[in-house]
Amino acid sequence: MHRYHNTIPGTKSMKKISIIIPAHNEEYNISIMVGELQKVFSGINYDFECIFVDDGSTDNTLNAIKVQNALSSHVKYVELSRNFGKDQALQAGMEVADGEAVITMDADLQHPPSLIIEMIKHWENGNDVVYTHREKANAHAKIYQNISSRLFYKTINLLSDIKMEDGIADYRLIDKKVVAQLRQFNEYDPFFRGMVKWVGFKQKAIPYNPTARLSGETSYSAYKLFKLALNSTMSFSVRPLYAVTLIGLVFSLASVFYIPYILISHFLGYTQVSGWASLIATIAFFGGLQLFVLGIIGMYLGKLFMQAKQRPNYIIRSASYVNEDDLIKF
Ligand code: UDP
Ligand code: MG
Repeated sequence: MHRYHNTIPGTKSMKKISIIIPAHNEEYNISIMVGELQKVFSGINYDFECIFVDDGSTDNTLNAIKVQNALSSHVKYVELSRNFGKDQALQAGMEVADGEAVITMDADLQHPPSLIIEMIKHWENGNDVVYTHREKANAHAKIYQNISSRLFYKTINLLSDIKMEDGIADYRLIDKKVVAQLRQFNEYDPFFRGMVKWVGFKQKAIPYNPTARLSGETSYSAYKLFKLALNSTMSFSVRPLYAVTLIGLVFSLASVFYIPYILISHFLGYTQVSGWASLIATIAFFGGLQLFVLGIIGMYLGKLFMQAKQRPNYIIRSASYVNEDDLIKF
């Protein structure tokens, strides 16, 4: 694939860092974001490209990005054909990034750009992945968001084989050899926070404190977060299937003891016709349990179904630095 390279004299020997920024309805944040990045990179001896991935924005985000693209050769963009989701947008950005390292960060300036310098230092010291996690609860998030976030990390750590710190963010530096690995992933519902942990390599965690969103609103409602938590836990583990099998086993074992107890008490003449309440309670409980178990199995089946279709995770509508012929190859 043909890519335009930075041709400014004297910059060729500098290592290039690709910054990937997924943006969904961030029109007022784009120019400020670019300004902040330019500030950071003017102080260090690295070249950079800033790849905005417009994830089906319904506001003026794409135009704002195009303006920046016209103003600076560092700014590039990929426009997705609709809203695919943040992880899919990150995947699209990673596909076209060609820096020595990739940095993923949010467009709303909740991820302090000044941290980039520290990330690069750790990378130069031999780390392949430098990721960030919130130092303490996010002061700018609602209480239910902080509680559900903690609950999410507890659950995913319990149910899957990867261990994630509380409040891991999508703000991280990834060496290009790790990016090459991540590009091989071909899974439906990609979950980068998990995938990046899963690939291994030398990883370094650094704490950060998120600032308030600069402008606009979060794209994640309580329902969307719930769905995300379920999806990402399940795409990382089949342990819930083992867990429900175990629960089923425990209950059927219990009934092995319960049925003789009923029979014996019947023949000994202890049974009365009462017991309606306990009967209904048992039916309701087991009915609920069966639905729950079926639901979990069904969700895995749904994932298999989606994966079996082999659809692309995202579709690119246009991009700043490829011509029409190249676009077909994506
Ligand atoms: N985002 C995206 N696609 C989506 C939702 C969000 O590209 O469907 C981007 C968004 O523009 C931002 C980042 O992902 O750059 C984080 O989103 P947001 O700030 O809404 O999430 P929060 O910080 O509240 O977790
Ligand atoms: Mg945000």
